[in-house]
Amino acid sequence: MEIEVDRDRAVEVLGVLRELRRQKYYPFDRSVLPQTLTPASIQNNRPLHSSFLFYACHYMRGGIESEQVFRALFVIHAKYPWMFEPGVVAEKSHEEIKAVLKNHIGWDAETASKYWWLNSQLLVKHWGGEVLNVIRGLHSYEEGKRRIRNKRSEELYSLDSTEFGFYGFQEKMVSMIIYFWDWAGLLEKKFLYAPPVDFHHCRLMLGLEIVKVSNLNRGGLRYVEKLQEPIRNLLLWYCRRYKADPKEIADVLWLHSKDLCGISPVTTTWEDKENPFEFDIATRAQILKGQKKKIIQTCGVCAVRHFCNYAIPAGPYYGRTQEEQGKRGRVVDGGKIILLPRSKNFDNIAPKDFRFRRPSPIDVQEGLWKEID
Ligand code: SF4
Repeated sequence: MEIEVDRDRAVEVLGVLRELRRQKYYPFDRSVLPQTLTPASIQNNRPLHSSFLFYACHYMRGGIESEQVFRALFVIHAKYPWMFEPGVVAEKSHEEIKAVLKNHIGWDAETASKYWWLNSQLLVKHWGGEVLNVIRGLHSYEEGKRRIRNKRSEELYSLDSTEFGFYGFQEKMVSMIIYFWDWAGLLEKKFLYAPPVDFHHCRLMLGLEIVKVSNLNRGGLRYVEKLQEPIRNLLLWYCRRYKADPKEIADVLWLHSKDLCGISPVTTTWEDKENPFEFDIATRAQILKGQKKKIIQTCGVCAVRHFCNYAIPAGPYYGRTQEEQGKRGRVVDGGKIILLPRSKNFDNIAPKDFRFRRPSPIDVQEGLWKEID
């Protein structure tokens, strides 16, 4: 797999999307970030808020929608507040943690509960049982990677046990947890870090051909570190070059993909009931004909549609089926990224009130990342 990155296109697209969000244009006038739904009782309690976000990250490794996870975690917190207290979790058995997660989230209960439990033990052992202690003195992205990224599979010889990081936290999760803490105002000092890259960021990058992939192996494209890394580096470069806030960059891409691409008929697929991991793509052309209005309201009014050559459905990525694990238990064979040529039939016929003035790309924001220049 070879990956080519188009920085100029990234600058243009990000400039347009940032301006749209600032001016609260559709879909940003109605977009909601899951972390902003967090109840005030959690948000107003810094130790709890920091640990709530830390544990939420155990489900941000991919395969399940963030909003679904956050909503389930709010219920878990209301019923089992000890699930967010590292000292208490460390004393429980793995089975107890797994039962709670399986009942309320279902997906990935085995692995998520194992990491939830093991990481609680690490917090007790190395960080005084407080997630806030991981944040204390955290003033750079490099230090974040040093403290948080799991290095157990690498040849690392260190006398500092904290340097081995936390289970399940690779580069993406380091960015994700710093992003969440940044959003929550929990960082002591603002610093530059690579914005987190998940399926939604990849969808836009590939669909808009900011990132092009060639020489694919058989089986197509999977959501893997090899794809995420150049995107993360590109966004980090952009934040540094244009003095942009990583939070804003992560948000505009994520929200545009979720709230516009995600509801467009061009990204809709249907699971084949007989073969639950297969998705019906063949009948799309026919179905699209009957959804003209919906296409106009999504791709038809998309401010970056002139760059968009591929529609990327979420179904094959979040692909899952319910099996013997019970109603909430799910078996996953997701992670597939399928690039479908995007229908452009309706690009130029959006009604007047849906047309957008194309904003000019944002210039350098003064004031951010001065210390890095
Ligand atoms: S044209 Fe459609 S699929 Fe492409 S970026 Fe815009 S909304 Fe998403």
